[in-house]
Order: sequence, then C-alpha cells, then structure tokens
Amino acid sequence: MTAPQLSPWTAEESAELRKDGPFWRHPVERKCPNCGHVAVRTYMFYSVPDPVHPRVISKTWCASCWRFGSWTSDGPPVPFTDPLDGEEPVNRKLEFINKQWDKGVLPQKFG
Ligand SMILES: [Zn+2]
Repeated sequence: MTAPQLSPWTAEESAELRKDGPFWRHPVERKCPNCGHVAVRTYMFYSVPDPVHPRVISKTWCASCWRFGSWTSDGPPVPFTDPLDGEEPVNRKLEFINKQWDKGVLPQKFG
C-alpha cells in the first residue's frame, strides 16, 4: 500500500471543521468540508508531560481524501484516554493512527 498523499486543510475548511465544536465533546467521524464524506477523524495526545501547563496536539484528517491538520492547544477540561500512549513517536504516523480507528482502538474516550 502506498502512503496517502496528505494535503493541508484550507483556511475555509478549517473554519468549517470548527463549526462542529470541539472534538472531545462529540468524538465521532465528521463530514469532510473538502470531499463530503463522513470521514474526518481526530486523535489527541499530550505533547510533553507538564501538569501545570498541559498542551495537547490534535491531529485531524479525512480518511477519504487525506486532508490533514495538526494543532497544539490547551487540553480539554475533561480527562481522556490515550490508547496509543507508549507507542514510539515514529509509530504515531497518520497511516498507523488511521488504522487504529479502523480497528476500533480510536476514537479515544473523553470525560
Ligand atoms: Zn475528505
């Protein structure tokens, strides 16, 4: 299998994605503003262990057209599981993460 060709969300698509509210409130696949498939997935993890200023990296991608974005922000106000914790950083590539969603390992649980 060849690696998917990733391309970044446009500013308009990013704005469209944000209209659905934060992923942790409703962690399901969402409609892709580019291709229209309900295939937009998100995976969140803490960037570095810092209990005082926790920062969370969110990867959001479409499993159909491979639009992709990665954002760093404050963590959500609820605890969440990280089924990929302990994976080597190299294994956190999008193809791997996407397969975990296909297997039902993701999405993670919030609250
Ligand atoms: Zn798409």
